[in-house]
Amino acid sequence: MVSTLLVRASESERLERLATNNRLAQLVAGRFVAGKTLEEGIAAARELAELGRTVSLDLVGEHVTTAAESDQAADSYLETIEAMATAHLRSGVSVKPSQLGTGLDLDDARNRLTKIAEAAGSAGLHVTLDMEDASTTEPTITLVEALHAEGHHHVGCAVQSYLHRTEEDVERLNELGASVRLCKGAYAESDRIAYHDRDRIDESFRRCTTSLLEHGTYPRIATHDHRLIGFTRREARRLGRGPDDYEFQMLYGVRTDVQERLIGIGENLCVYLPFGEAWYAYFMRRLAERPANLVFFARMLTG
Ligand SMILES: Cc1cc2nc3c(=O)[nH]c(=O)nc-3n(C[C@H](O)[C@H](O)[C@H](O)COP(=O)(O)OP(=O)(O)OC[C@H]3O[C@@H](n4cnc5c(N)ncnc54)[C@H](O)[C@@H]3O)c2cc1C
Repeated sequence: MVSTLLVRASESERLERLATNNRLAQLVAGRFVAGKTLEEGIAAARELAELGRTVSLDLVGEHVTTAAESDQAADSYLETIEAMATAHLRSGVSVKPSQLGTGLDLDDARNRLTKIAEAAGSAGLHVTLDMEDASTTEPTITLVEALHAEGHHHVGCAVQSYLHRTEEDVERLNELGASVRLCKGAYAESDRIAYHDRDRIDESFRRCTTSLLEHGTYPRIATHDHRLIGFTRREARRLGRGPDDYEFQMLYGVRTDVQERLIGIGENLCVYLPFGEAWYAYFMRRLAERPANLVFFARMLTG
């Protein structure tokens, strides 16, 4: 209930204005967002690289309302890719399709993505399309298919185990040869299309993990859940996959203890690293995932 309210609040423009003008809220968001500028994002990425992690840099921002904003987001991604290449950072960028304007004009959005994919390809970096709310699932997968048809095989997307359709999507993406990021899902979806029971979400996650390890291309298992991490490791060994055949992904600022442990036992770990001015919606989804974060937030606000 609290989670659903927070996810809904993440969509409120009025609350976004209030939060982004509040210095304390900015300070708290700093736990999950590396900074407002590309320089800060790159500096955080360098620190993580020294700790043995790769990164997927994410310029926060979504649901743009004009083509000019989408062009600007695409240009920022080109700068990000250049900066990553200069700093010899691995492994890529995460892009929200709505930020590139999928809600405005799908062809224009695809052209912007193609430019990003070309730049990333030349720099040896991967591009993952984040998965947003369920109205964007089909357009996002269609975009990945279009990019593969153009020869950009280093473009993949996230899928969410809470959606009923995801096991079929995983098969479809496996056949395409796209590298998939598997996560549980962070949006408020209806019972008609999504599981809400934790066990069912986890069962779907496990089935998708097996399918990805068995038939997929370099699966990116994105979870902090130790039971699912343990399952993935056991399943990989059962299927004869070594640590270099897949990776774990975790969010910047979340379970750094687990991140360290995984690196320590020889697993590959990529940190999803957000930076940028438009941090509000991303931050609210992180609060929604763990109500205990609200206490942390409240403590900071009340000094
Ligand atoms: C790399 C990465 C990329 C993602 N990309 C997407 C995407 O494209 N689309 C999408 O819908 N969702 C995305 N997510 C979010 C994901 O869907 C989940 O909402 C989120 O990861 C929490 O699920 P969990 O698997 O960690 O399990 P949970 O059961 O929620 O968490 C397991 C444990 O992890 C810790 N934890 C988890 N989340 C937090 C948090 N916010 N703050 C503090 N501790 C926390 C807690 O200790 C918790 O007990 C992504 C997640 C990751 C890690």
